[in-house]
Amino acid sequence: SIVVTGATGHLGRLIVSALLRRGVPAGEIVALGRDTGRLADLAQRGVVVRQADYTDPDSLRAAFAGADKLMFVSGSEVGQRVAQHHNVIAAAREAGVGLVVYTSITRADTSTMILAREHRETERELTASGLPHMILRNSWYLENYTGQLPTYLEHGVAGAAGEGRVSAATREDYAEAAAAVLTGAGEPGRVYELGGAPFTLAELAAELSRQTGREIGYVDLPVEKYTEVLVGAGVPEPFAAVLADSDRGIAGGELYVEGDDLATLIGRRPTTLAEALRAAR
Ligand code: NDP
Repeated sequence: SIVVTGATGHLGRLIVSALLRRGVPAGEIVALGRDTGRLADLAQRGVVVRQADYTDPDSLRAAFAGADKLMFVSGSEVGQRVAQHHNVIAAAREAGVGLVVYTSITRADTSTMILAREHRETERELTASGLPHMILRNSWYLENYTGQLPTYLEHGVAGAAGEGRVSAATREDYAEAAAAVLTGAGEPGRVYELGGAPFTLAELAAELSRQTGREIGYVDLPVEKYTEVLVGAGVPEPFAAVLADSDRGIAGGELYVEGDDLATLIGRRPTTLAEALRAAR
């Protein structure tokens, strides 16, 4: 079976759907969540649903039993993830999983972004584990931007990413790539740097201006100032700091992806910013 963690989340759910679309029988897919009630619709389609929490090794051992492949979607509790991901890898070893596919971040091995640290540790541990694995280093989600459309339309685009280009792609495209490697594409041991067509935040504002016929600008702020703006908009302080730090990373090219691993894995050009903005409006 193919076990998918984080199936209650956006990406995990899309990966399960992509596997079904590729013809993997529902009964061979195991969707994991902390709250399995939120997976009821998948259970109804015949997907096997099991409860698992990254902080509970017993739950992971039980959830991974009989797994041929494990789609390990990185957790969302920033600061807790090294210990949580350790539990996942340990349970995967015990279960003798044949392939672990992990979602990481662009150039996790060298990135200076705060968000990269836990991915770097997890990649290291996965490599040291001896488990056959593939690493999907995802750049930013386009949804990180399209989700802010109302704010952009009201206040314009603000950030701290300077002239940096970000190779954002849709969750759907990352999910498609994950389903591809889970169903035989790619090679174990490989690290894939996944991303879409890159753009600067000024180009994002320009595209929005084109599509709306209104003048929408980009205001570049120092990291501390942008953190304050996010806090002012209701983002909790620690998370605001992480987001602003990610913009610092973008300014330094740390979410810019070379090559076309994503297009190769999904067999088509990834959805572009212009298309995603149009769809979101
Ligand atoms: P979501 O927040 O939608 O989903 C995160 C998933 O991880 C949820 O299913 C969540 O479960 C699960 N999870 C978190 N903590 C635990 C835990 N202790 N035990 C078991 N499951 C847990 O994120 P996305 O689906 O959008 O993205 C997937 C991952 O990609 C994120 O978790 C994060 O690591 C990373 N990410 C990447 C971004 C990018 O731009 N590339 C942006 C944001 C995140 P539950 O539903 O119970 O909370």
